[in-house]
Amino acid sequence: MRHSLARSRRLGSVVDAVGDTPLLRLSRVGRDTPSVEVYAKLEFANPGGSVKDRAALRMMTRAAADGRLTSQKTLIDSTSGNTGVAYSLFGAAMGFKVALVMPSNVSKARKDIARAFGTELIFSDPMEGSDGAIRLVRSLVEKDPERYFYPDQYSNEDNPLAHYHGTAREILEAVGDRITHFVAGIGTSGTIVGTSRRLREHHRPIRCIAVEPTEALHGLEGLKHLPSSLVPAIHDEGAYHETMRITTEDGWDMSDRLAREEALHVGHSGGAAVFAAFEIAKRLHREQQGGCVVAIVPDRGDRYFAPMKWEKRYVW
Ligand code: PMP
Repeated sequence: MRHSLARSRRLGSVVDAVGDTPLLRLSRVGRDTPSVEVYAKLEFANPGGSVKDRAALRMMTRAAADGRLTSQKTLIDSTSGNTGVAYSLFGAAMGFKVALVMPSNVSKARKDIARAFGTELIFSDPMEGSDGAIRLVRSLVEKDPERYFYPDQYSNEDNPLAHYHGTAREILEAVGDRITHFVAGIGTSGTIVGTSRRLREHHRPIRCIAVEPTEALHGLEGLKHLPSSLVPAIHDEGAYHETMRITTEDGWDMSDRLAREEALHVGHSGGAAVFAAFEIAKRLHREQQGGCVVAIVPDRGDRYFAPMKWEKRYVW
């Protein structure tokens, strides 16, 4: 298995650097649960710095292959940030124009990264959160369908398929049938749905757990509180076994612990997924079952550094 962080590779394009991210055993945070292996899959090792590189790349290459995306069109989509970075990166790599609709309160760093690749930004009402961005992009595309290619990550099956063919295959290559639990946060639900489908095909006793914030107003950027959101069309509750609801505080505290104890500075959705993974590990250890838990760490914490502090630490 090749690791983007661990080995030097000679690449023809940044596109070739997507995937094959490392699994890191979290033994320090896990010192009280030694009978259970807990791994973080480090998705920040992708060239755009997040798990969303996988979905964006597959949606773009498939659309370019069948003519839905051409150099005459502008790719437009709504994004909490990471998907936008990925579209921007691959737009620059493959020569496609990109426009992004996002709530105006996403961090300045996110806006600056997208702009650095030549992407046009269109802002939606921050009070309407990511649903407002979805509504705005849909109305723009409806008004001028010839101008835009709208990948619509919430409805595009290439989003979960990227994880079915990539993320899940890599996890199986790394830990094989030892895996007992898989944990990932829900945003579009591409990661949890696509990865769980493949893992369950290969190893029946596995349990797949989705992580969502306890409340609509939360600080776990990238995650959706499904009960109060538009449910993505690609969401498939039958693909995974259960949902764990995690508070902003627990997600943020685990992010802090991972930085200090494991030297892993992760975004808060990764903190929430790892927190959930250790809740499972504690139970398995207590019940003397052993186990192997893999949690997705979608991005790095420095993506959330901002010159201003979030009021009450909350974002939509
Ligand atoms: N964490 C972060 C930081 C994200 O940007 C996203 C994507 N919105 C997710 C988790 C959830 O990933 P997915 O869209 O595949 O459900």
